Amino acid sequence: MSSTETLIESNELFIGGEWVAPAGSDRIEVFSASTEEPIGSVPDGSNGDIDAAVKAARAALEDSQGWSSWSKEQRADAMERLADAIDKRAPEIARRVSMQNGMPIAIATQLEGAFPQLLLRYYAGLARSVSTEEVRDGLLGGKILVQKKPVGVVGAIVPWNFPQALAAFKLAPLLAAGCVVVMKPSPETVLDSLELAEAVTEAGIPAGVINIVPGGREVGAYLVEHPGVDKVAFTGSTPAGRKIAARCGELLRPVTLELGGKSAAIILDDADVAGSVEQLFGATLLNNGQTCYLGTRVLAPRARYDEVLAVFGGLAGALNVGDALDPETQIGPMASKRQQERVEGYIAKGKSEGARVVAGGEKSEQEKGWFVQPTIFGDVDQNSTIAQEEIFGPVLSVIPYDTEAEALAIANNSEFGLGGSIWTGDKERGEALARRVQTGSIGLNHYMPDPAAPFGGVKQSGLGRELGPEGLEAYFALQSIYLEAGPTATAAP
Ligand code: NAD
Repeated sequence: MSSTETLIESNELFIGGEWVAPAGSDRIEVFSASTEEPIGSVPDGSNGDIDAAVKAARAALEDSQGWSSWSKEQRADAMERLADAIDKRAPEIARRVSMQNGMPIAIATQLEGAFPQLLLRYYAGLARSVSTEEVRDGLLGGKILVQKKPVGVVGAIVPWNFPQALAAFKLAPLLAAGCVVVMKPSPETVLDSLELAEAVTEAGIPAGVINIVPGGREVGAYLVEHPGVDKVAFTGSTPAGRKIAARCGELLRPVTLELGGKSAAIILDDADVAGSVEQLFGATLLNNGQTCYLGTRVLAPRARYDEVLAVFGGLAGALNVGDALDPETQIGPMASKRQQERVEGYIAKGKSEGARVVAGGEKSEQEKGWFVQPTIFGDVDQNSTIAQEEIFGPVLSVIPYDTEAEALAIANNSEFGLGGSIWTGDKERGEALARRVQTGSIGLNHYMPDPAAPFGGVKQSGLGRELGPEGLEAYFALQSIYLEAGPTATAAP
């Protein structure tokens, strides 16, 4: 199947509500992950473009009639119009994401083509209902107005694995709070953001509220430390997040970090493993393993170890691997050659460290595209490289355990703490164990982040939370106005 008929080209960047010429002349060339053919190109954003975008964002923020001073109702209406405008473009957004990063089109349609609108509508509802002002009685006898104000200009940096959904994790709550944004997509996935920009224009979002500058890590670093940025929202790898956190620490700039993971899928001795294959796939291999929260360490009771290996081995062997645009495809290619080589390096490492290959483990037989064979390792040492480092590909490590206490200890033996799952026929037992796993979220007999609940990591998986009402709070700054003095105010420190 040919990935595309015509190249998707843009010569301009979406800044200040207009398509403007970029400051530099470099371009980002994008290739199909499935065919390695060129599929389009856009200007490679540079520091000058970030300067222009931040300036436009600040002007929008400071406009006394502008977005931040619109009523909550007006903003919520505009967010719903944006969701409607994205709806119209959803099939094309899903197609572009699928071509660029190898996400199977069936998954791209369900997630990339639908999650942004779901989040925009959810946060539009929260924008209408959230209370941003409260008058309190002070302890010293006076009155205080406590106000939640938009934190200001947000620098949002997103990765390539779910470019539109993860952008919306930031965009929807920040718009609801009255903030404005300069967004930097990853160079691997820039073509989908052109559609987002068109939707922003159609929805009548005021100029400068949403600005998009694609570019690499240097441009991202420049955005993080730009004096016109008030808050940074980052999703990406733990090493990059650490650098960004350090810089934000120096600047005392608020930052939210959604980082890597190496979650555990804990299979208890009463689980219906064979009957849960579809859910197990979603919790361990979704999007070709290029998903941060996946349970890539599968913990199996020793008494049922061979059975678990057989189910996962059968699953991996039966998966439809192919062109990401084919609706039948369950596993597409990696997003880039670099990512393919990285995952192959981990497979080689697993073998050299003595793990047993139960399925896959060889070079992909596909002639073109950055494919990796879905690979299941058995007899994996919980401290080995493949059991500790984030691989970000379709590679699972199945680790045996003897007791539930040992399963918990193995699950928590990780520098990460993002997602995870527990598989059991006894919900109460599963919930009791879930409470003891050191992770930001965890699912029983499935895993899928729900927009109504806070999502994020503990340990090296991040700082702060996105989604849920909690995700909205990250875009507010608090101000207390002491309206009147009480009789004892002068005696207070
Ligand atoms: P990455 O960290 O290399 O890049 C992510 C984004 O940050 C890109 O836009 C990149 O250009 C930019 N960037 C990189 N270094 C930067 C720096 N020093 N300053 C500013 N910007 C910088 O990650 P990736 O390879 O694109 O994405 C995969 C990673 O993202 C995985 O580790 C995965 O677990 C993580 N991820 C986390 C979540 C989550 O919600 N926790 C979700 C998806 C992906």
